[in-house]
Amino acid sequence: MMEFSTQALFREDSYLREAEASVLAVNDQGGIILDRTIFYATSGGQPGDVGYFERQDGSRIEIAGTVTGRTKNEIIHLPAPGQALVGPGETLRLVIDWPRRHLLMRMHTACHLLTVICPYPITGASVSTDDSRVDFDLPEAGPGKEEATERLMELVRADHPVFIRQIGEDELAANPGLVKSKNVRPPQGAGSVRLVCIGDEGVVDSQPCGGTHVASTAEIGEIHIGKIEKKGRENRRFRLRFGPLPVS
Ligand SMILES: [Zn+2]
Repeated sequence: MMEFSTQALFREDSYLREAEASVLAVNDQGGIILDRTIFYATSGGQPGDVGYFERQDGSRIEIAGTVTGRTKNEIIHLPAPGQALVGPGETLRLVIDWPRRHLLMRMHTACHLLTVICPYPITGASVSTDDSRVDFDLPEAGPGKEEATERLMELVRADHPVFIRQIGEDELAANPGLVKSKNVRPPQGAGSVRLVCIGDEGVVDSQPCGGTHVASTAEIGEIHIGKIEKKGRENRRFRLRFGPLPVS
């Protein structure tokens, strides 16, 4: 099968809820590949979008998930079971499940803030709508739940801007401290790297990331550290949840 490339509109504007696109191909598993999309594809610990496509006759094709194909630029939309078939060239109106996506954007941005108050190598991360986790290479006890929550909420209340800056691969190579992940390097060979910056000029944090984020830290809203677990000898897992820290 040919290799396809989808224009990822969510990389430029994570607030797009609807768009028009046309079908490039349907793969042998029924996955739909479009010329452009607002559906984020599962990557970097953030789950792919769900939603629906509206056809010209007004009928809907429910989309149960979004993943990448052979390359990061090939984005495959996975229809729920029993949906009608679309064909190449068909024009569709794309609609994502925005309330779910916005929760993921808030959570994902909160995970960045967590790496600011826990400046240790990241060994894993997973974002979900109600409970997210970041694992750190942290053999000693780090900040406790109360302290970590307080420092996170200071960064949220400061209403720092969150924005994207493209830098050259040479600039990233000259600033290896920008990469906070212990094992995962940003994709090479594209010529530029997408930096997610928090605070004026990115003073609070700057790190390569391909996910979707809110535009300011205040939009995250109230969050707390629900749990800190020891994972093996060297790792600690911090769990983030929405709402205030429960009184213990
Ligand atoms: Zn991110």
